[in-house]
Amino acid sequence: MIRHHLSDALLMAYSAGQLPEAFSLAVATHVSLCDECRARLESFDAVGGVLLEDCAETGMAEDSFAATMARIKSGAPQPRMVPPAPARGIFPAPLRDYVGGDLEAVRWRPVGGGVRQAILPTDRAATARLLYIPGGVAVPDHGHRGTELTLVLQGAFRDEVDRFARGDIEIATEELEHTPVAEAGEPCICLAATDAPLRFNSLVPRMLQPLLRI
Ligand code: ZN
Ligand code: ZN
Repeated sequence: MIRHHLSDALLMAYSAGQLPEAFSLAVATHVSLCDECRARLESFDAVGGVLLEDCAETGMAEDSFAATMARIKSGAPQPRMVPPAPARGIFPAPLRDYVGGDLEAVRWRPVGGGVRQAILPTDRAATARLLYIPGGVAVPDHGHRGTELTLVLQGAFRDEVDRFARGDIEIATEELEHTPVAEAGEPCICLAATDAPLRFNSLVPRMLQPLLRI
């Protein structure tokens, strides 16, 4: 039962192929777990398709097809992720593709307090990382300079906002200062996408930020 969903703005930007790769990955992963957001995305895709058809009727430049193909081949702008397929393990299909497998394929690095992370290969406009938080452990409280999307894949965490369990996505912006704490029990595993370095409130994590790229 998913209670925390994507915003219209994120779904629209994803539909239009406007998101940084790390955010696209988080959106695609949530959508593959969430029927509600998948339905909303389909309606945005349909609206986008109608807009494209309207543009076509007003006439396109002779070389627009070649230009479009060249842009697709050059890989820019960021292409849409493939449509989601049902999940088999903890990781839904879009995430499995990035990791090259499920949980066993992740190369974790310790970041202190039993917390581990793995940064995923995306373009540099935003960072995507997997987080492993042992039950009962807190991630240091921090604010955000940009937007942070946190999608729960296993277990659950709580912060000042609410409780987040598998499939829930938290959208944190500059206004939010929070201390996510993993619930007691199984480790909480999340996919987090950030478009600016987090602003940690205690000195040591701040010193480590450049090394950890968080
Ligand atoms: Zn949703
Ligand atoms: Zn945060």
